[in-house]
Amino acid sequence: MPIRTIIEPFRIKSVEPIRWTTRKEREELLKKASYNVFLLDAEDVLIDLLTDSGTGAMSTAQWAAVMQGDESYAGSPSFYRFRDSVQEIMGYKHVIPTHQGRAAERILFSVMCKKGDVVPNNTHFDTTRANVEFTGAEAVDLLREEGRHPEVIHPFKGNMDVEALEALIQRVGRARIPLVMLTVTNNSGGGQPVSMENARQVSAVCKKYGIPLYFDACRFAENSYFIKLREPGYAEKTPKEIAQEMFALGDGCTMSAKKDGMANIGGFLCTNDDIIAQQEKNLLILTEGYPTYGGLAGRDLEAIAVGIQEALHEDYLRYRITSTGYLGRKLTEAGVPIVQPPGGHAIYLDARTFLPHIPLNQFPGVALTCELYLEGGIRAVEIGGLMFGKAAKMDLVRLAIPRRVYTQSHIDYVIEVLLEVWKRREDVDGMELLYEAPFLRHFTARLCPTAEVAAAAR
Ligand SMILES: *Cc1c(COP(=O)(O)O)cnc(C)c1O
Repeated sequence: MPIRTIIEPFRIKSVEPIRWTTRKEREELLKKASYNVFLLDAEDVLIDLLTDSGTGAMSTAQWAAVMQGDESYAGSPSFYRFRDSVQEIMGYKHVIPTHQGRAAERILFSVMCKKGDVVPNNTHFDTTRANVEFTGAEAVDLLREEGRHPEVIHPFKGNMDVEALEALIQRVGRARIPLVMLTVTNNSGGGQPVSMENARQVSAVCKKYGIPLYFDACRFAENSYFIKLREPGYAEKTPKEIAQEMFALGDGCTMSAKKDGMANIGGFLCTNDDIIAQQEKNLLILTEGYPTYGGLAGRDLEAIAVGIQEALHEDYLRYRITSTGYLGRKLTEAGVPIVQPPGGHAIYLDARTFLPHIPLNQFPGVALTCELYLEGGIRAVEIGGLMFGKAAKMDLVRLAIPRRVYTQSHIDYVIEVLLEVWKRREDVDGMELLYEAPFLRHFTARLCPTAEVAAAAR
């Protein structure tokens, strides 16, 4: 029998203690945080699954590269190492560093979009949508039907609806569509991958109408590995070859290095277009910095240069995708409702099905998030009614997995805590909203369990 256990493909050289709290303490802490986990101190969290963005562990090779960081203002060798590493994978002519992904988005859309334009995407991530709309353009999501149903199992639920894309181009006219974007993997749609076949079809439509295609490449390595596992003809290719093939279908990309860049900060923007690149660099100098550092330190560029290559290592990706899938599988086996199939970077709990007795105006997603913290000191995030208001189509709780940070026993602990909450789910109370800010209210909202509100009124 071959050995089947998939282990973490690293050993641990530097450890960071995590802090236990008692349930009694967590009750106090959560109350003090007004039942909003964004208001908790990170030190009061045992397992932090709030986000996979910038929360990963760097490798010894990355830390060694950090020491090579050259902090020259212009023409630093760190920039050239960064540029060469990015170009080897992405293949684009111009590589423009930025402080994170949204800065790349702001610069790209400021240069390419104007009022009245339309930008199609499989699904815009929230900062992407906001940056498109800030230019006066319209952000249109063209996800295929299967991607819109949490329970449906399909290998590539991130795919764009290619017919809808062509229909949109014909309806609004090519002149109003400055670019098409494809987000790999589709973060807002549950971390679901896009197939090479779909990228090829989208690229063909773009070429037919002369519209540039850009990738939102944040999780390009995870997407490449899903293609290797699931798409016929790719089993023998390396994740890097798959990534190279996909990027060759487009004209540029935006990237948050806090995801598959394996860095704690950073991002970049790529394009093949000389004129656009010049305009982008001019804007970069205005707000981010000189084009050989773009708001980053030389050491950050070094960390990204190494990290973006490590994200494509097959043993890392096998561990990454398998451990997320392991969490999803164990929960599914116990009957816990999650978005299927498990994505690359996170598991999404379906809070409406988990807590059917809690009405939507009492935020089932927030209630479940609070319960996970109370039960086991786990911090997740609500993506539903509190975040999006009445526009929310689902109430999800995202368990995002930081890269190379937690081991299988941490994941086993998360499973145990979740199953404990699942067992006594009928006792979980809804939440009443006490305070909301006019924008992005989920970050600062204050809430209270409905039973406490009722008790106080008596
Ligand atoms: C995180 C993310 C961004 C934005 O990147 P930041 O580094 O957080 O600014 C854009 N698109 C997608 C798909 C993302 O996941």
